[in-house]
Amino acid sequence: MASILIIEDEPELVKVLRSYLEQAGFTVFSSGRGDTGLSAWEQRQPDLVILDLNLPGMDGLDVARAIRRKASTPILMLTARVEEADQLVGLELGADDYMTKPFSPRLVVARVRALLRRASPTEQAATLLRLMDLEIDLNAHSVRRKGVLVELTPTEFDLLVALAEQPGRVFSRLQLLEATQGSAYEGYERSVDAHIKNLRAKLEPDPRHPVYIETVFGVGYRFTQGAARPR
Ligand code: CA
Repeated sequence: MASILIIEDEPELVKVLRSYLEQAGFTVFSSGRGDTGLSAWEQRQPDLVILDLNLPGMDGLDVARAIRRKASTPILMLTARVEEADQLVGLELGADDYMTKPFSPRLVVARVRALLRRASPTEQAATLLRLMDLEIDLNAHSVRRKGVLVELTPTEFDLLVALAEQPGRVFSRLQLLEATQGSAYEGYERSVDAHIKNLRAKLEPDPRHPVYIETVFGVGYRFTQGAARPR
C-alpha cells in the first residue's frame, strides 16, 4: 500500500485527512512543520506528499523545491487562497496538483489516487476493483457485471465503491453518507436506504435476495464478506 506524508500545521486538518486516507488504505505519516516535514520525507520516502503552503519552520515552496532537487515524489499542494494557487501554477515549482482550502477530504483522496496512478503506471490495476462477477473502474466511473455495463448515478457509484473497497466491513448509514459527500444532497441517513435500494435494483440479479450488498440489521450495510476471501 502506498504511503502518504502530510506536511500541514493545522492539527484538525491533519486529523481529518489522515482518517480519510487511512480509510482508503494508505499508510499516513505527518509533520506539522516544513523543516521537520522535509526530514520526514527523507526518512520515510513516501509515495506522495501532501504539502501545505504556509508552514512554520520552512515555507511549503522551499520544501517542494528541496524535494524536487532529489526526487520526483508527487506533491499535492494545499493553499489557503485562490490567488496563492494561481501563483503556484506560475511558479512551476514542481507541485503536481494543488487544492484550495476548504476542500472535501474525499476529493483529496481522489486527487491522491489520480496522482499516484499518473506517477506509476504499474498501479493501474489498483484502479480496477474486481469482486465476484463485478468490475468497477474507479477511473472511468463505470461498473460492469459479467461484462455488461450497469448504469449508476454518481451517488450509487460512490456508495458501491465505498462498500466494495473494503468487502466484509460493515458501514453505518452515517459513514456511507460521508462516503457520498459531494454527490448526496439529502443529508439524512435514511436516504442511504433509498440509494441502496436503487443500487440493488440495478446491480443485483435478484434485489430481494442481494448477493453483493448485504444488510447488517441494526447497523448498516456491507459488501459481502465472501468477496474478501481469496479465490
Ligand atoms: Ca498552514
